[in-house]
Amino acid sequence: MSFIQGLKCRECSRTYPAKPLATCEECWAPLEVVYDYEALARTLKREEVAAREGNMWRYRELLPLNSPPAVGEHTGFTPLVPAPKLAEALGVRELHIKNDTVNYPTLSFKDRVVAVALSKAREFGFDTVGCSSTGNLGNSVAAQAAAGGFKSFIFVPADIEPEKILGTQIYGAELVKVDGNYDQVNRLCSEISQKYNWGIVNVNLRSYYSEGSKTLGYEVGEQLGWRLPQNIVIPMAGGSLITKVQKAFTELQTLGWVDPVPTRFYGAQATGCSPITTAVKKGVCDIEPQKPNTLAKSLAIGNPADGYYAAKTILDSGGWGEDASDDEIVAGIKLLATTEGIFGETAGGVTVAVARKLIEQGRIDREESLVLAITGNGLKTVAALAATAVKSVTIRPKLNDFEETVMKNREAVSV
Ligand SMILES: *Cc1c(COP(=O)(O)O)cnc(C)c1O
Ligand SMILES: [Zn+2]
Repeated sequence: MSFIQGLKCRECSRTYPAKPLATCEECWAPLEVVYDYEALARTLKREEVAAREGNMWRYRELLPLNSPPAVGEHTGFTPLVPAPKLAEALGVRELHIKNDTVNYPTLSFKDRVVAVALSKAREFGFDTVGCSSTGNLGNSVAAQAAAGGFKSFIFVPADIEPEKILGTQIYGAELVKVDGNYDQVNRLCSEISQKYNWGIVNVNLRSYYSEGSKTLGYEVGEQLGWRLPQNIVIPMAGGSLITKVQKAFTELQTLGWVDPVPTRFYGAQATGCSPITTAVKKGVCDIEPQKPNTLAKSLAIGNPADGYYAAKTILDSGGWGEDASDDEIVAGIKLLATTEGIFGETAGGVTVAVARKLIEQGRIDREESLVLAITGNGLKTVAALAATAVKSVTIRPKLNDFEETVMKNREAVSV
């Protein structure tokens, strides 16, 4: 049973039937999927959700599909990990990591949005799908298109990480490297979607795609024991994830599944691409586009599609935005790995580094509950760490060598 009522313009409130359309024909603002929450609250109880299988489809009534998912059956419900050692390092009382580095099938939160977008593409009858991507979205579209039997075209800036390029091609996707930045790649995809009858997940399927991000928010609420955190730090590229986690938290409250908590949303970006946090620091929502130059290529969107709404979400919640330099990003990756044994990608380094700054600034209260969204896996961005690789020694397979070389150094170090 579906509870979708259709699409609604975020600005002028004009409504549309649920078709492949992402922007309002009157005012060009983004379209949002609307649901019948009253009927939903009457029909579905949180106990029933909690008894379902551990994947994102346990929240299927809150997702915009009319039929069972065509792809991504095992996506989502990633661990929410208590992080006491990182909490101690950062000086906060209660810290959890939402660990999407182990999401299925391609190790980033993008598996959630793609599972919804390609399932919707199947409902609309598209046989070819595509996306513009900073890497992770392309990986996920390629993998899930292969599994779902779609042909796929992935458009990326030519300078993204080699691991992400390989991680797209291996699935048999048509990878198109574009000599330009993400915003130019995205514009090209918009032109392509006018001409070809394809389901481009972040262009004509964007209203549905972005709904998939809500599942990260539902899971945080459920995994905290049907409780919302007082603070959450979320990395931002196009700004969609942070706005959808906010929508998810609001929906959980509307349904009466959690007590109302005024969660403060904190947005994290890289200093070399910080259009949204720059606006937040000025206290405004209008975004001035930037030319990206950062290690955190997955977040390198200089003209974010949902930047305005992301800034508004942050400011309305009483949260804040911060950015992290390349060195701080690498330090953030290492801190998370050495304290909690979680290897996040550069976006994870951004999130940890920004959380540290916000705590030091007193913007995040040390006594309040805090969740960090770690959204992608470090094995896809190993090159970012090459310059800081730890030196290691090689010994002969002799006890004497071990003691002379390894343990001797060790004594020297620990004195
Ligand atoms: C895409 C991405 C984000 C940000 O997503 P938006 O919804 O575009 O803001 C965060 N982290 C990682 C690893 C990503 O790939
Ligand atoms: Zn409109």
